Amino acid sequence: MLISKTLKCKVLSPTQKKWELLNQEYTNFQIYVRSGKNFGIYSLTKANFDFVYKNKARKKKQPMPLHNQSTKFKITGSKLTPYWFRIPVKGKRGGIWLPIKPHENIDSSWEIREAKVFKRKKDFWIYITIRKEVELKTSYSSVLALDVGEKVIAAAVLSSVRKPIFLGREVRGIRRHHAWLRKRLQERELFKKLKEMRSKEKRRVELVLHEVSKYIVELAEKNDSIIVLGDLKGIRKQDKGKRFNRIINSFPFSKLSFFIEYKAHLKGIAVVKVREDYTSKTCNRCGEEGKRVRQGLFKCSHCKYQANADFNGAMNILKRSWEHIFQDGAVAFSPEPPMTEKTRAEAH
Ligand SMILES: [Zn+2]
Repeated sequence: MLISKTLKCKVLSPTQKKWELLNQEYTNFQIYVRSGKNFGIYSLTKANFDFVYKNKARKKKQPMPLHNQSTKFKITGSKLTPYWFRIPVKGKRGGIWLPIKPHENIDSSWEIREAKVFKRKKDFWIYITIRKEVELKTSYSSVLALDVGEKVIAAAVLSSVRKPIFLGREVRGIRRHHAWLRKRLQERELFKKLKEMRSKEKRRVELVLHEVSKYIVELAEKNDSIIVLGDLKGIRKQDKGKRFNRIINSFPFSKLSFFIEYKAHLKGIAVVKVREDYTSKTCNRCGEEGKRVRQGLFKCSHCKYQANADFNGAMNILKRSWEHIFQDGAVAFSPEPPMTEKTRAEAH
C-alpha cells in the first residue's frame, strides 16, 4: 500500500547569495503568475505551473510548484540540520542546496515527490510531498473496534478484553468552553478575536485527535489487532436525522479515522471500515432494536440487556467486523475484502 504525506519544512537561514537567488526566482514566478511576463523562471517550474493552471483563473499569489525531477533531497551529518533540499533556479546550473527543518523527522525510506515553495514575511517554506510503500500484515490475533461515541469522540473495544475504552472525552469540554467564549466575543463584536479563537479551538481539538489516534494504534500494535472503524458514509444515506447531524457537525470522527488509518498503515496494521448505521439502536446481544433510555444508557426491550450506549455501539462494530475479516476461525485480512451484500448488489 502506498502512503503519502506532506512534509512542512522551513528554510533555515541560507547564505545571502542563496537567499537572493531563491528570492529572485520566487519574485519572478509571482510576476509570471500575475502578468504572464517571464523575467526568468526555471523552465520545468514554469511548465509545471502552466500545466496545473492551464484552465484556472490566476490568483494574486501562488506557491511555486517544483517538479520532482528538478529537486534533490539528502540527509547529511551536518550540524545545522541533517536535511538539505536542492531546488532549481534560473541562471544557476545545478540549482541551490538549502538547509531545511521539517516539522517531523524522516528517514531515507521515503520517496520525494513534488514540492511547493511559499514565502511568509521574510521566511521561505517548502512543502514536500513524500511517499512510501508499506506492507500490511495479513493475519492478527485480535480485533480492535471503534464506533462514534455519544459523549466521547469514539468508544473502542478489544475483542480479547471486551471492556469499553472511551476516547477523546476532553473534546466535549473544549467545545463547550469555546462555544461560551464565542458567544461572549460575538456580543462584544470582537470579530478578529473570534477568528483567532476559532483556529485555537481547531488546534486544540486536533491535538487531542492526534493523541487519541496514537494511543489506538499503539494499543493495536501491542495486542496484534486489526482495526475496525464504523464508516460514517454508511449512515449518510440511511440514518439521517438528529444523530447523523450531530455526529457529522460536531464530532470529528472522520478526522480521527483519517489519523488512525494513516498511523496504522505506517506500522503495517490494516484498517477495515464497516457500516455504522443503526449501531446505536441495535442491541449487541440479541440483535433486536433497543433504545437509549437516558443519558448514555442503552436498554434492549427484547432481552433486557443494559449497557453504556457508546460501548454497545462499539460492540456492534466489532460484531459486524466478523463477516469482513474472519476466515476459518482466524483473524485474517485480504487487501480485497470479501463482497458484502451491498457491494454485491452494486456489482450487478
Ligand atoms: Zn437485546
